[in-house]
Amino acid sequence: MAQQPAHAARDARAEASRDESFRDSISTVDKRGKRIWVYPKKPSGKWTTRRQWFAYSLLALLFAGPFLRIGGEPLLMINVIERRFVFFGQTFWPQDFLIFVVGFLAFIVFVALFTVAFGRLFCGWACPQTVFMEQVFRRIEYWIEGDWKHQQLLNKAPMSAEKLGKKTLKHLSFFSISFIIGNTFLAYLIGSDELMRIITEPPAEHVSGLIAMLAFSGAFYGNFAFFREQACTTVCPYGRLQGVLLDRKSVVIAYDHKRGEQRSGWRKGEDRGAVGKGDCIDCKACVHVCPTGIDIRNGTQLECVNCTACIDACDHIMDSVGLPKGLVRYASEDEITAKKPFAFNLRMKAYTAVLLVLVGALGTLIATRSETRTTFLRTPGMLFQERPDGRVSNLYALKVANKTPRELPLRFEVLNVDGGEVMIVGKPIVLQPGELASGEVFLILPKDAVTAMKNRVIVGVFSGDELLEKVTTSFVGPMKPPGT
Ligand code: SF4
Ligand code: SF4
Repeated sequence: MAQQPAHAARDARAEASRDESFRDSISTVDKRGKRIWVYPKKPSGKWTTRRQWFAYSLLALLFAGPFLRIGGEPLLMINVIERRFVFFGQTFWPQDFLIFVVGFLAFIVFVALFTVAFGRLFCGWACPQTVFMEQVFRRIEYWIEGDWKHQQLLNKAPMSAEKLGKKTLKHLSFFSISFIIGNTFLAYLIGSDELMRIITEPPAEHVSGLIAMLAFSGAFYGNFAFFREQACTTVCPYGRLQGVLLDRKSVVIAYDHKRGEQRSGWRKGEDRGAVGKGDCIDCKACVHVCPTGIDIRNGTQLECVNCTACIDACDHIMDSVGLPKGLVRYASEDEITAKKPFAFNLRMKAYTAVLLVLVGALGTLIATRSETRTTFLRTPGMLFQERPDGRVSNLYALKVANKTPRELPLRFEVLNVDGGEVMIVGKPIVLQPGELASGEVFLILPKDAVTAMKNRVIVGVFSGDELLEKVTTSFVGPMKPPGT
C-alpha cells in the first residue's frame, strides 16, 4: 500500500482534530459568565512600531482637529446641539439633508468595500478605541505596573504601599488622559471657542457644559480602565458585521495552518517536516500578546481586531528557531489554502462601482450647493391680483434657510422678466447663520409679460451684489383672449 505523504497525513489529522467549540463562547468570559481579565504581553516588532507611529500621527490630528481652522471654520465640528456640522471648513446644516444621506451611504459602502478587501484593517490601525487602548492606556499600564506577569502578580498581591502607589498613579493618569479626551470630544461637538469659554469663565455660567465635560471624561475613563476589549468583542456593531462581509478572499491577519499544523513543541536539531510536524512550535507567544484574549490559530474570529501583535510575536519566535517568518501574517484564506494571490473579485468590483456613483453624486451635490435654500409656494386658494398700476401680482409663502456661517441680509430680484419685482411683506429679511425664516412676498409682473395662465419666473436670491441662489416658481395670470 502506498505511503501517504507526511504533509497530507498531517493535514488530515489537523482537519480531524479541529475543535470549533471556541466559537460557542467569548474568550474573556468564563463558564459562569464572569469576566476573564486579559493581561496581554507587551508586543514589539516591525508591525508594532509601524502601528505606533501611525497612531501617534492620528492622535496629533485628533487633538489638533478642533483648533485647526480653514477660512475661520474648524476642520471638523459635529455640533448636534446647534445642528451645525463643519467638514474641512465647509459648514453644513440640516437643510443639507440630501448631502448627509448620500455622504452617509458613500461612507457605508466604503467601509463595506474596505472590509471585504482588507478585513478589519481599520480596527487595528485607525479605530480610536484601539489607538487609545493599545498605544496610550496600555503603554502607561506597562510603564507603571510592568509587563503582563508583573501585572498579574501585582493584582494577586495583598494591598501594600507599593501596590497602592502604582494603582493610584495609574488611575490618576488614566483619568487625566480621559479628561483631555473628553474635552477634545466636547470641542468637536460645540467648537473650541465654546470649550474655551467653559474652561475660562465662571463655572456657574456653564453648568451643563461642565456636567458634559465630566460625563465624557468618566465614560472614557470607564471604557479604557475597565471595559477595554469588551467594547470591540461585545458592543461594536462593526465587529459584528465581519461575519457577513468577510470571505475567503478577504485579507486578514491569519495563521498559515497549512504550514503550521501539526503544531508541536520545539526540539533542537529535529527535521520537523520529516516527522510530520508543522512549523508552529506551540509556544503560544501569539496568544500571550493578544489584547482580546484569543488564539489566532483557531482561524478568523469576530474578536480579532487585527492589531498585528501576533504577527510580531510569531515572527520573533520563527526568527529565534531558524524558521521562515510569516507563519502568522496578512493573508486571505485562499492564499493560504490554494496559494491564490490577492484578486480584485466581482464583489469588490460591484462595491467599487456603487461607491464611485455615490462619490460622484456627493461631489456634484457639494459643488452645486447654494448658500441658501429658498422656496416660493403660491398661497393656496388665491389666484392673481390686478394692481392699480396695471401690473399683476401673486402672493407666495417664502421659506429661506441660511447655510453659511455668516449673517445674510437678503434681497430678491426677478431675473427673467423685465420690470418684474419682489415685494417682501413686512420687515427686510436678515438671516443669522443656520437660521430658517419664513414670511410672505408678492411677485409683481407687468401685465404684458404675463402671456399664459401659468408663467415660469426665475427669482434671484442676493446678499448685497452676490447672487446666492436662483429659484424657479410659477406665476398665475389672467387668461388672454385668443389672438391678443
Ligand atoms: S489575534 Fe492577533 S491580530 Fe487578532 S487581536 Fe489577537 S493579537 Fe491582534
Ligand atoms: S507564536 Fe507562532 S509558533 Fe508560537 S504558537 Fe503562535 S503560531 Fe505557533
